[in-house]
Amino acid sequence: MTDSYVCPNCERVEDRSYRVRLIVLTCPDCGDNGRFLNMTLVDRLREVPESDRPDDWGEMPLDARLEYAIREGLLDVSFTGPLHAE
Ligand SMILES: [Zn+2]
Repeated sequence: MTDSYVCPNCERVEDRSYRVRLIVLTCPDCGDNGRFLNMTLVDRLREVPESDRPDDWGEMPLDARLEYAIREGLLDVSFTGPLHAE
């Protein structure tokens, strides 16, 4: 079993054999040292309704969207809970 992690800037996907919310990695594609988000969280961010998104949502990197969504209570806590390292 692997989990997929998505580059916050260019959306390159990396697979890892463990499940956490995010991993810090230098991206082989865009060279950015960023927080790769667990794919399941990326999917949840795509489901945030338009009316709940800030105006610059489209320009925000994925990790900034995640921070915003958690701060604003847009992400279900019961979902993010199990994503701690095991
Ligand atoms: Zn990248």
